[in-house]
Amino acid sequence: MAFPLKSLEDFKVEFEPRHDELRIKARRFAEAELKPKLFRIEMTGKIPKELVKKAGAEGFLGIGIPEIYGGIEGDLRDLAIVIEEIARISPAFGLTILVTYLFTIPTLLYGTEEQKKLLKRIVRGEAYACHAATEPVGGSDLAGIRSVARRVEGGWILRGHKRLISGADWADYLLILARALDGSAEKRSKNLTFFIVERDSKGLRIVPEKCVGVRGLSVGQIIMRDVYVPDSNVLGEIGQGLKIALETYSRMRVGAAAIAVGMIQSSLEASLRYSLRRRAFGKPIIEFQSNQFKIVDVLCKLMAARLMLYWAANISKRSPRDLPIASSMAKLYSSEAAEDSAIKAIEIHGGLGVLADTLIERFLRDSEIVKMIEGTGEIQRIIIFRELLKRMEMLKDYY
Ligand SMILES: Cc1cc2nc3c(=O)[nH]c(=O)nc-3n(C[C@H](O)[C@H](O)[C@H](O)COP(=O)(O)OP(=O)(O)OC[C@H]3O[C@@H](n4cnc5c(N)ncnc54)[C@H](O)[C@@H]3O)c2cc1C
Repeated sequence: MAFPLKSLEDFKVEFEPRHDELRIKARRFAEAELKPKLFRIEMTGKIPKELVKKAGAEGFLGIGIPEIYGGIEGDLRDLAIVIEEIARISPAFGLTILVTYLFTIPTLLYGTEEQKKLLKRIVRGEAYACHAATEPVGGSDLAGIRSVARRVEGGWILRGHKRLISGADWADYLLILARALDGSAEKRSKNLTFFIVERDSKGLRIVPEKCVGVRGLSVGQIIMRDVYVPDSNVLGEIGQGLKIALETYSRMRVGAAAIAVGMIQSSLEASLRYSLRRRAFGKPIIEFQSNQFKIVDVLCKLMAARLMLYWAANISKRSPRDLPIASSMAKLYSSEAAEDSAIKAIEIHGGLGVLADTLIERFLRDSEIVKMIEGTGEIQRIIIFRELLKRMEMLKDYY
């Protein structure tokens, strides 16, 4: 039975020879460039911007972006491979890279040629960009946002407040979701529109926020007091905001799932290493079956999460209509598995598991963030159930 997919072919996970080369390249970068800086990043909460430039030079910010805009070839499988390897060392740095795609993907899909010219510097890591939808009044209910854009001669005036925006403090270009007030009915999802706002715009203020997890990722509030945005900086059409957001998020959930898979891998490796070394009652603690069982449970979840991740990444090419259900399932499962593997890693490490300088308790703090970004578990379940209902008619073929 293939339900909720059409055929057994839809379960395929396929790779090409270039994917393994990319995996090795990403692992080398993560081990050589990122790992030596990890402790400092975790302790200071600061990622060196130079590292983003280096990731840009490796092509990690330009996956799936055409060469004319500075990118390299590839699709969501390539992105998942790179993000997984990087998140294995630092989920915060994985997210720092991923955030740029929240700007580049919608710009590539809906931007004008002029807007696409911004991609080159972002892809190289020479400029940074963010994507701002969430507000103090909420993030799950996108249609309920309160930021507004008022029509004026030649452009729009933005007013509003965004919160919890990754990369806000670093961003040269901010992709901001607001409700365009153009005189027509203000229905909840109607008139939502993305605007590209430049960092030095008058009336724009960024306030950094402190987050308990993914230390090093820049997170901040964006306050807009009558920020002028010319018509040429409207992304897509007025009222296309929700559509653009949903299309972007169903791709980016593959990225979020890749962060979670990298974290599970990393916590499993740490648990294995420690339990082989640590001794209690005259033997290594790995010899206690209770610890072996925890490690096996995490290994099974890692493999299931990884299969779902690459299946979702694969399906974006095979059957794009299945991407929303696939990427939400991958993100939901892997982020909850990451939390579980973090708890097991802390248990296996005993008291050392909760000391900040062992870098073990960070798995739990980081997993709580991965559960939240690109939509909470509840929101993923809502999407998955909605997509499942759309496929109910397929069941009649089986009786
Ligand atoms: C580190 C970090 C980085 C982030 N980066 C960005 C970014 O770059 N850009 C951006 O726009 N946002 C970003 N966010 C915001 C993130 O997307 C939101 O936090 C998330 O979507 C949840 O929104 P909320 O926090 O407003 O919670 P709310 O929407 O207020 O939800 C609160 C609780 O109610 C539940 N809930 C809400 N609606 C329903 C429902 N219909 N059914 C069942 N349960 C429901 C939620 O699941 C949650 O448990 C970031 C968040 C974090 C923590």
